[in-house]
Amino acid sequence: MIQVPRRIRDLTPYVAGKTIAEVKKTHGIDKISKLASNENRLGCSPRVKPAVERALKQIQDYPDPEARKLRAEIASKNHVNESEIIIAAGSESILSILCRSLLGTSDNVLTADATFVGIYVQAGVVGAQIKKVKITDEYGFDTEAMLEAIDSNTKMIYIANPNNPTGTYIGKSEYTSFIEQVPDHILIVADEAYFEYAKDIDDYPHALDYRKDNVVVTRTFSKGYGLAGFRIGYAITNADLTAQLMKSKLTFEPTTLAQAAALAALRDESFLSNSVALVERERRRIYDFFDDYNVEYVPSISNSVMINLGSEEKAIHFTQRMLENGVILRRLNAFGLPHCVRITMGTENEMDHFIDSFKGIQNI
Ligand SMILES: *Cc1c(COP(=O)(O)O)cnc(C)c1O
Repeated sequence: MIQVPRRIRDLTPYVAGKTIAEVKKTHGIDKISKLASNENRLGCSPRVKPAVERALKQIQDYPDPEARKLRAEIASKNHVNESEIIIAAGSESILSILCRSLLGTSDNVLTADATFVGIYVQAGVVGAQIKKVKITDEYGFDTEAMLEAIDSNTKMIYIANPNNPTGTYIGKSEYTSFIEQVPDHILIVADEAYFEYAKDIDDYPHALDYRKDNVVVTRTFSKGYGLAGFRIGYAITNADLTAQLMKSKLTFEPTTLAQAAALAALRDESFLSNSVALVERERRRIYDFFDDYNVEYVPSISNSVMINLGSEEKAIHFTQRMLENGVILRRLNAFGLPHCVRITMGTENEMDHFIDSFKGIQNI
C-alpha cells in the first residue's frame, strides 16, 4: 500500500455541481436548466469560436508559457505593467500556485467559514492550516473578527469580494480600513471572480486600486466571460511576487486554445455588458418572486442569489424536487451553509423554468 499523507487522506474533495448529461440520464428529462455552477448562461462571445479555430492550427506547438499577447491586453485594460500579471488555468490554479509557493505546514490561511471551497482544498493540499472566521449575520465577511484572528502564523488572508456563495460584498470604506490594518508580511488574496458583475456598483471597491505589495488580485474568464470550460484566469500583484509565482505555475498552462479564447472574449465588450444586464434583470425578478413567496434571500452583486431554507433537510428536499423538474441548483453544505441553496441567474427562459418548478413544490 502506498502511504498517502494524512493531509491528503483527511481532505474533503471539491465536489462540482451535477452536469446536464448526468441529470438527463438519471431523471429522464430533456428540459434542463443548469443553475448550479455560476457559469454564464448566455454562453460566451461569438468571437471566441473563430479565434479558437485559428488557434487550432498551432495545436502541435507548445503554448506561450507567458501568454504574452493576452497579458499585454490585460495590462493595458487594467493600467498595470505586464510584469505584474500571471495567467494560469483558472483562478483555482492561481490559488493553488499561491498555496504551493508561499505556504508551509505551520502557516495558516485566514478566511471566512462560508466562502469558496477552492481555498480550503488548495491550502489543505500543501498541509497549511485554514482558520475560518464566522461570517456576519448578514452573510458577509467579518473583517473586524478577521483582524482579531490574525496570529503569528498567519501568512495569507483570503477574501472573495463579492463572496461566493453568498453574493455579499465588503464596501469601500470597510475594505480600505481592513487592508490598511493587515500587516505588510501577510498576503491578502482578493478573489474577484465576479468582478465583471460588480465593478460598476458605487460602493464596490476594486482591489486593484490598493496597489500595496501585499495584495494579489485574482480574476477569471470563467464567470462573466463564459469560458469556464477553457480554464483560464489571472492574478495581478507586484512584479517580484509575480516572477516568483511564475516558477510554480505549470509551465504550459493555460493552453493555446484557452489563451486565444480569452483574448477574443476580452475584446467583446458588448457580450459582457449584455451578460451583466441579464443578471441584473433576473436578480430583480427573482427578488420580487421570493418576496411574494416569503423566501429569505440574500441580496447579491454577483451572478447568483442565495436563499435560506431554514434547515439542511429542507435544502435537500427542495433541491431534489427541483432536480426532478430539471432545475439543477447548488446545496451549500461544502461551503459551510447546509441550510442554504445557491441559484445561478440564468436566461429568462431558465429563470421561468425555476419559478414554475418552484411554484409546483409543496411544503418547501
Ligand atoms: C468560480 C470561482 C472561482 C474559480 O474560478 P476558475 O477560474 O474557474 O478556477 C474562484 N473563486 C471564486 C470566488 C469563484 O466563485
